[in-house]
Amino acid sequence: LFVSFEGGDGSGKSTQSRLLGDWLTGLGREVVLTREPGGTELGRVLRREILHGGHVDPRTEALLYAADRAHHVASLVRPALAGGAVVVTDRYLDSSVAYQGSGRDLGADEVEGLSLWATGGLLPALTVLLDLDPVAGMARLAGRDAAPDRLESAGDAFHRRTRAAFLDRAAADPDRWLVLDAARPVEEVAAAVRVRVAALLGL
Ligand code: C5P
Repeated sequence: LFVSFEGGDGSGKSTQSRLLGDWLTGLGREVVLTREPGGTELGRVLRREILHGGHVDPRTEALLYAADRAHHVASLVRPALAGGAVVVTDRYLDSSVAYQGSGRDLGADEVEGLSLWATGGLLPALTVLLDLDPVAGMARLAGRDAAPDRLESAGDAFHRRTRAAFLDRAAADPDRWLVLDAARPVEEVAAAVRVRVAALLGL
């Protein structure tokens, strides 16, 4: 089973990924927790270049994310799934469609096509969208790792576009997506995720 978590910064993706992983491990399942960008050694190099390397232009950025994803899927996700593990990833290709496609205006269809090419068409069985007002998300990150400029820009059109893009994609494919209000208490969100995963695993 392949599960992805999506949503803005500070929406709780890494916390919810971990809670889901802990629950599944407790049930005796083999679980692989991973993330994009940066779930592999090459990915960590790409992550550093994309996020902290300065200013790459939007097309280059999209290609670096796609390269990270291609390597992540080929070297980690597909082998783990083939071995019977549940793979839980903190971000996957819907982040690229939302951030590079809609946020950076490269075009959602183009970036989706690029992403599906990079992954050989691999889509999660379940994508959980942790939906949150970007300003609330950034406020949660304050004092953690959010740079002041990122905090200030949380209300920008960029973040509004990416949030809307996630919600549009989710509405278009309710079989794959579960949309949760990330402002709800952590344990309530985790319980809602477990219900959907239990159904998919036939538990
Ligand atoms: O959630 P994480 O810390 O991994 O994301 C790092 C940053 O990269 C976030 O600010 C997110 O907005 C951005 N990002 C992006 N495009 C992606 C994935 C992440 O712009 N495809």
